[in-house]
Amino acid sequence: MGGFFGVVSDGDCVCDLFYGTDYHSHLGTKRGGMAVCDGENRITRRIHDITNAQFRSKFDDDLGKFGGHAGIGVISDYEDQPLIISSKFGSYSIATVSKINNINELASEAFDRGITHFSESSSSGELNPTEVAAMLINQKDSIVEGIKYAQSRIDGSLSVLVLMNGSVFAARDRYGRTPVLIGEKTGSYAAAMESTSFPNLGYKLKHELGPGEIVEITRKGVIQKQVPGDTMKLCTFFWVYYGYPSSCYEGINTESARYRNGESMAADDQGQLDEIDSVCGIPDSGVAHAIGYSNAAGKPYRRSFVKYTPTWPRSFMPQNQAVRDLVARMKLIPVRDEISGKRMLFCDDSIVRGTQMRDTVVRLYELGAKAVHMRSACPPLVFGCKFLNFSRSRSELDLAARRAIARLEKVEEPTDEMIQKYLVYNSPEYIAMVDGVRRELNLTTLKYQSLEKLIKSIGIDPDKVCTYCWNGRDVEK
Ligand code: SF4
Repeated sequence: MGGFFGVVSDGDCVCDLFYGTDYHSHLGTKRGGMAVCDGENRITRRIHDITNAQFRSKFDDDLGKFGGHAGIGVISDYEDQPLIISSKFGSYSIATVSKINNINELASEAFDRGITHFSESSSSGELNPTEVAAMLINQKDSIVEGIKYAQSRIDGSLSVLVLMNGSVFAARDRYGRTPVLIGEKTGSYAAAMESTSFPNLGYKLKHELGPGEIVEITRKGVIQKQVPGDTMKLCTFFWVYYGYPSSCYEGINTESARYRNGESMAADDQGQLDEIDSVCGIPDSGVAHAIGYSNAAGKPYRRSFVKYTPTWPRSFMPQNQAVRDLVARMKLIPVRDEISGKRMLFCDDSIVRGTQMRDTVVRLYELGAKAVHMRSACPPLVFGCKFLNFSRSRSELDLAARRAIARLEKVEEPTDEMIQKYLVYNSPEYIAMVDGVRRELNLTTLKYQSLEKLIKSIGIDPDKVCTYCWNGRDVEK
């Protein structure tokens, strides 16, 4: 998905920019980039490959080359960025968190209008989404009008930072799919996707941008350039999986929401699972849900798997799925004494393809587990996400729940009409689908958290969050 951080400061901004960007490393795995603007709008920019190294280690040697009062940084899951764009507005640097489903149509339109080329395409010819966003921005008379235009044309989502003339423009996606927060400390302002980047750098949360809101951050303050829209569809997955435990969105902390969610799942199981010996979380994403479950159920929390953090400190995601599965296995090490002879209940954030979970369950039985119960912190994933880029495979055909529906319907690919009845929580079809996944994964029992209880655990107005991947519903346009 990616994440960004921007800063404008009375002093030199580089230290805050470096660490602030680094605090977004859990959101992307491919590229890290920083751009800093000096007093004469000269932009220094570096981009590094971070697929197999930490952002900080790659940028350490560059820090002395940067200097200035304003900068933007990005951790990107796909394209090279930030880009430097020469435009009628002058030179600017741009970083985005986006998904552009209609990228080829937008490029074709641009060619028809006489734009001759895009220079940032990958070796396989894929367009750079940040460059396409800049192309749209450049069509209007100001950066702000350009961002609004780009957001109106893009099918998907677009949150953006633009660095120009010592200011940073920060814009949140028009439906607020991804968060953008403004922090403040004496002499500095910052814009971030993760509020977790603020406290250690001394920033206090000043404002959370609303959907479609645009601000310009200067050394004098934060100026609103576009008021927020009425409709928000913030990705619910920030609380389920993506968000860092210390981050808050809409004032709601992710770690606390996950505890409440675990407690809610435990309440659902009350009196039914007295036999379990321990509650475990699949590291790292299942841990907080499992702690919540354990505390509410009065069953001990145990680390039956530990993550090998010394050499797998970050979420390394190779592009090849087979290598990705191998890496996932290498990172998790079972603790035999906590498994052998035990009846365990595991919590995980979600079940996507189920491949890694199936492998985990096989290992648990090989190590002598007597029973393996699984609780997913969110409902079955049935629809692929259309709004954010994910490094985890979310192809619809791969989704474990969708495959179970296909087997029950005896078809290769179920139609949307067929799927509807499986979406009704605890309907006979829903129960059959869940049992299909349970059997495929060889679990003793399997339950998914209901959408209603997940949103209640988060504690947010259901109209303000995106739930498309679970129920196929989105903004009515
Ligand atoms: S479809 Fe799912 S993953 Fe995508 S934005 Fe909506 S809630 Fe998030």
